[in-house]
Amino acid sequence: MSLNRLGCSGLIVLMCAQLAFPQVPAEKPAGASGLRGFSQEHSRIERDWESKFKAGISRDILRDSMQRLTARPHHVGSAYDKDNAEWILARFKEWGFDAKIETFQVLFPTPKERVVELVAPSRFRAKLQEPIIPQDPTTNQISEQLPTYNAYSIDGDVTAPLVYVNYGNREDYEQLDRMGVSVKGAIVIARYGEGWRGIKPKVAAEHGAVGCIIYSDPRGDGYFNGEEYPKGGWRPQEGVQRGSVMDTDYPGDPLTPGVGATPEAKRLAIRDAKTITKIPVLPISYSDALPLLSALRGPVAPEAWRGSLAITYRMGAGPAKVHLRVMSNWDEKPLYDVIATMRGSEFPDEWVLRGNHHDAWVNGADDPISGMVAVLEEARMLGQLHKQGWNPKRTIVYCAWDGEEPGLLGSTEWVETHLGGLQKHAVAYINSDSNERGFLHASGSHDLERFINDVARDNKDPEKNMSVWTRAHLYRIARATNPEQRDEVRKRNDLRINALGDGSDYTAFLDHAGISALNIGFGGEDEGDQYHSIYDDFHWYTQFVDPKFEYEQALAEVGGVAMMRLADADLLPFEYLATADTLTKYVSDLEKLLKDKQDEIKEKNLELREGVFDATADPTKTSVPPPVEVVPPYMNFAPLKNSLDLLKKSADRYAIALDKAQADGSLTIPQTSLVQLNAELAQMQRLFLNERGLPERPWFKHQVYAPGAYTGYGAKPMAAVREYMDQKKWSEAETQVPMVAEVLANVAAGIDRAAVTLEQALAPSAKAGN
Ligand SMILES: [Zn+2]
Repeated sequence: MSLNRLGCSGLIVLMCAQLAFPQVPAEKPAGASGLRGFSQEHSRIERDWESKFKAGISRDILRDSMQRLTARPHHVGSAYDKDNAEWILARFKEWGFDAKIETFQVLFPTPKERVVELVAPSRFRAKLQEPIIPQDPTTNQISEQLPTYNAYSIDGDVTAPLVYVNYGNREDYEQLDRMGVSVKGAIVIARYGEGWRGIKPKVAAEHGAVGCIIYSDPRGDGYFNGEEYPKGGWRPQEGVQRGSVMDTDYPGDPLTPGVGATPEAKRLAIRDAKTITKIPVLPISYSDALPLLSALRGPVAPEAWRGSLAITYRMGAGPAKVHLRVMSNWDEKPLYDVIATMRGSEFPDEWVLRGNHHDAWVNGADDPISGMVAVLEEARMLGQLHKQGWNPKRTIVYCAWDGEEPGLLGSTEWVETHLGGLQKHAVAYINSDSNERGFLHASGSHDLERFINDVARDNKDPEKNMSVWTRAHLYRIARATNPEQRDEVRKRNDLRINALGDGSDYTAFLDHAGISALNIGFGGEDEGDQYHSIYDDFHWYTQFVDPKFEYEQALAEVGGVAMMRLADADLLPFEYLATADTLTKYVSDLEKLLKDKQDEIKEKNLELREGVFDATADPTKTSVPPPVEVVPPYMNFAPLKNSLDLLKKSADRYAIALDKAQADGSLTIPQTSLVQLNAELAQMQRLFLNERGLPERPWFKHQVYAPGAYTGYGAKPMAAVREYMDQKKWSEAETQVPMVAEVLANVAAGIDRAAVTLEQALAPSAKAGN
């Protein structure tokens, strides 16, 4: 699925530095005297190999690979999806990897019948077809293109009055209530944007709607932003965003939650699969949406709800009446994950993983091939280095996932199948997906925050004479919306990385298996958006996104260097100060959320008593005052804060020991201690798991990182507590506090053990023994 780039800014790494002169950021490479986690000698050797690696990355090869992989539509189950997997397999083998294809069988519905028509007050039938653009050579591959649809929409045939629901999030329905508009028995039309598209039919169904239409308003990714394709890069009037609308209970094959979708796996009946929508859904273009929206009457939509069409946006219900019909082939389709391994020379049982998906909705140049070709180019160069004598100490595993678009299928099924081995051996997983010209963004588990900062400091931006780190840092300052934000960006040594939510193949690794993870990419300077359309192709990408493949090269460099350092480090480069700092912020966010809710509800109740709503309501319009609500009780966050104190102490203790170990810029730890310490560090992220999982989403085991059940894409840190608070279930939320606190205390104890191991390794007796 990949992140809708409209929502991408939230993932952009916060770039921060401690600077005496903020306008002149330090260009000092990370650990100039030696790479963190490397002995002085190994550091020198490593930097030599990194230079060779970067020198070999070829923009021509990146371009050729993209042209080859995007030549035809390659969605799950298509002929070219398999062809691409086999081509990728052959490349990995050619480059010296031990590579294979792992196959799974998954439920993947494809559309059989699709109808959207206005039946009253006038008649109009939606085209539901993206037209060929003559100068774009792959747009005419109609017989191989998946029609415009939302995967995992339930079959249905409904005719009902239409209601416009803005983005279709929960807050939008509160607004509808205030204006006396009900969606009960109606078909809703929502615009794309503001969160995972699967939330729209989910919330609509919860409010009694019988169907859901999602359209692309030009405000989001069309002419509001720039010229439409092919004149410019933005979505044209008949362009449609395909996409999955799977519910948020668990990613992966809807029929095999928690286990790999192997041939012998026990499968749910389709009707029992919780992630299929409750009501039928179809996506449409704005040209198909215009007659529908124009036919709505009822209240004028609030200002924030209005898009860029030349109409008065109204909410309905009706008199527009719509017929919506969706029927799919509910077949199982094969997935082809390509897995390529280069065995570690010293620690073959420690695995460092890297992945990107290869399946697309159609030709998929930006999503996902822009990321895929960078990952492949890394692998090609690592293969070259291997032939020249470079041997990774740890085993490196390159993965090209299938079935990401429908719901992270390939990565999830693979992680579920190999869960035991992964939890024993995996050190970290680094993901990419769509990649564009612009600024580095990284998100991930905070034990890798400092590590990815170091890597970013050591890689050059292709457009400016500075590191990708400095450019991203300065970008953050420019984008800050208030002095406090700017201050925070400048104050910290490292770029703050955001937590991972949902939206690409890292989810199963981090949220289900407890494997430290990063998601990296560039973006922000591309001139257009054709997300999940037939126009996301080579012709478009090479005109409007990254014509010179400079940021493809940059991604390959950052990703490759990160892989090499993780694979070769004497001491795994995890640290925990950023984790402690971020968790502190999460806990104060929870406290602030409670206080804000209390204040908001107190104020609302007061205004109800004062008669504010009654006095200001226009008697000629419908308006319903909000209900009086019980003010949320105070909650006891003390268990979380106590655990946090422990965690801070442990993180400090480990950091002090680590500084000592690298005091003279080189690493001085005896080999036997290193082996034990690395084993402890590699397992640390696992301690965040709770086998019971989140209270209402047991597949999600991680107690800090998870996507929101009603937001998707973005992370909802400490979701066990937070999700209940969002639902105003205060006592349930409070019950979760000690359980999350217990997990954090376990993590603190784990970090303490690592600190003790490191301290003992540094003790004079241990040194003497070396
Ligand atoms: Zn993607």
